[in-house]
Amino acid sequence: MNKRGLLIVVSGPSGTGKGTVCQALLQKRPDIHLSVSATTRKPRPGETDGVNYYFLSEEKFKSMIEEKGFIEWACFCQNYYGTPRDKVEEQLAAGHDVILEIEVQGAMQVRSKFPEAVFVFVMAPSVEELERRLSGRGTEAPEVIKERLKTALWEYSNMEKYNYILLNDEVDGAVDRLISIIDAEKQRTERNADVIQEALKAKERIDLQ
Ligand code: 5GP
Repeated sequence: MNKRGLLIVVSGPSGTGKGTVCQALLQKRPDIHLSVSATTRKPRPGETDGVNYYFLSEEKFKSMIEEKGFIEWACFCQNYYGTPRDKVEEQLAAGHDVILEIEVQGAMQVRSKFPEAVFVFVMAPSVEELERRLSGRGTEAPEVIKERLKTALWEYSNMEKYNYILLNDEVDGAVDRLISIIDAEKQRTERNADVIQEALKAKERIDLQ
């Protein structure tokens, strides 16, 4: 039987580069799966339905909430975002590690439902740098940038609820540190009850007389 996969939650404010870090991680570790979220936000140029997000109408999103189709969901800057349940459950059960790249309210819901998950908070080198990155994207109107920055400061106040803080000063380094976190978590004693059991059974097989 496959051992259940590790659920890794990566959050942190919009503009910290967590999306870039996760994409770069997948390049280095194709064995790790990134969950595709659903959203009511309109696609940005270059975004594809089913790849970046499942772009849903508000009506469809709300009916999925009713049907308990999400592991978690949240309203972020006037749009809904949620993690579709089926795919994630399937991949974890098959022994694959899964990353959720989600904002803080959603991460806190995951924490209560999956306390064994690993929670990583990505931060930018400074708030000024965060503001510069958000403005530099050129995809959002100034009032949206302001709202995202305000939300970012609220998200920073939740940092302590995470297991790890990942400073994204430079993508390559941040990815390597994220890989170290994932690999170390998988070696934790409490995640290896089967290995311990096996070792104890071996003791019974050996005759020391
Ligand atoms: P964006 O509109 O920039 O793609 O995403 C806005 C925020 O929503 C980001 O912080 C992103 O991580 C978060 N987000 C993306 N998918 C989900 C999701 O499924 N659930 C929650 N709670 N947040 C999400």
